[in-house]
Amino acid sequence: MAGISPVVLELLEKPNKEINVFFPVKLDNGKTLIFKGYRVQHNNWRGPYKGGIRYHSMVDLDEIRALALWMAIKCAVVNIPFGGAKGGVEVDPKKLSKSELESLTRAYTRAIASDIGPTSDVPAPDVNTNAQIMGWMRSEYQKVTQDNSLGVITGKDTRSGGIEGREEATGLGGYLVLSSLIRKIKLPKNPTVAIQGFGNVGSNIAKYLSENGFRIVALSDSKGGIYLRRGQFDIVAVVKCKKEGGRIAGCYCVNSVCDLGNKLKFDGRDVTNKEILELPVDIVIPAALENVISAKNASKIKAKVVLEMANGPTTSQSDKILAKRGIVVVPDILANSGGVVVSYFEWKQNKEGLKWGRSKVVTDLTKRMSRAFTEVWQIAQDKKVSLRQAAYILALKRIASRYPQYR
Ligand code: NAD
Repeated sequence: MAGISPVVLELLEKPNKEINVFFPVKLDNGKTLIFKGYRVQHNNWRGPYKGGIRYHSMVDLDEIRALALWMAIKCAVVNIPFGGAKGGVEVDPKKLSKSELESLTRAYTRAIASDIGPTSDVPAPDVNTNAQIMGWMRSEYQKVTQDNSLGVITGKDTRSGGIEGREEATGLGGYLVLSSLIRKIKLPKNPTVAIQGFGNVGSNIAKYLSENGFRIVALSDSKGGIYLRRGQFDIVAVVKCKKEGGRIAGCYCVNSVCDLGNKLKFDGRDVTNKEILELPVDIVIPAALENVISAKNASKIKAKVVLEMANGPTTSQSDKILAKRGIVVVPDILANSGGVVVSYFEWKQNKEGLKWGRSKVVTDLTKRMSRAFTEVWQIAQDKKVSLRQAAYILALKRIASRYPQYR
């Protein structure tokens, strides 16, 4: 790439350090099992390593390695002073009791304690980990190292040094980026939106979009989806309905009424997770899994914009197909970076011994997201490249410019 030496580019492809750990956990039935965990530290030229901890039975080193690289890129795109890392444990946390989950978390933390710290590597929640688990990690880190800094972990409970607004930050960041984009391209007034995935990210972006004139017409979770050909979903009512029933299916909620009568009235139907991406809407938002848009379905996408809220939802082959068809893809490394930006605010408030209010979080996040969008957009226009290529150019230049000079 222009302006970056081949040696630096080659270095940026490789992680600085890969940590594999095996650790014992005593289960409630008295048996002890050995678990496998990872921490990959990709790059720290711009600041401490930063990235979440994932608990999943399918976690492996390749996945953690890719996610660590994306974290380094993401932090550089939004210009926060962090590098990139990711961690994980091969475990199905749903099969553990609460006390087993705590023992596993503490054992994993002991195994990586010498590699993390408030100025070296700062973990956070990711898939299947949360504020409670971050609290256990911090407490174990403190026990092992005698360092009681709050800033060793982000994503903490607000009563234990966490920050207001972290929960909805990724969804809000995605909404802010999309709002900047639609000032640049032509979309109908009150654009229609389909969202795959209704967890933290999907439900929060749905909320912000529906409050701001977008019409959410299709939603899904792991158990299936629903689509309204007329009207739009009432997101507050859908959130309540899903909470009560445990699924999106059947939540035909319009104007705060959730009943199947709305299905007929608004010409609704059930859709699969595959179909939801191919509906005739203006914007499609993958907010669940990786690789859901591939060479198989890229030619069937009808939306004008794909906003990548999940990490890695579009394969590189499908990216090319979408570009050829003139579909604008807002890359994950920009679209879903609101979460890590607010994690940075949490780390900063902890370091400075301050407590930020919600409105400061929202104001500062808004500034950072719109600046990042404008910078990426400008590079894309100047160099006639996609938004993803532009985001990579911006990030790699920023990281490369911090290549340590002592070599
Ligand atoms: P979550 O666990 O809260 O929600 C995931 C949602 O996806 C759930 O609604 C689940 O039912 C649904 N889902 C699972 N399998 C599905 C399938 N086959 N089809 C459709 N839906 C399915 O997770 P989240 O925090 O909302 O994260 C979603 C994505 O966003 C992940 O790719 C994650 O890495 C990425 N992300 C999250 C954050 C964050 O701050 N939470 C930040 C950046 C990126």
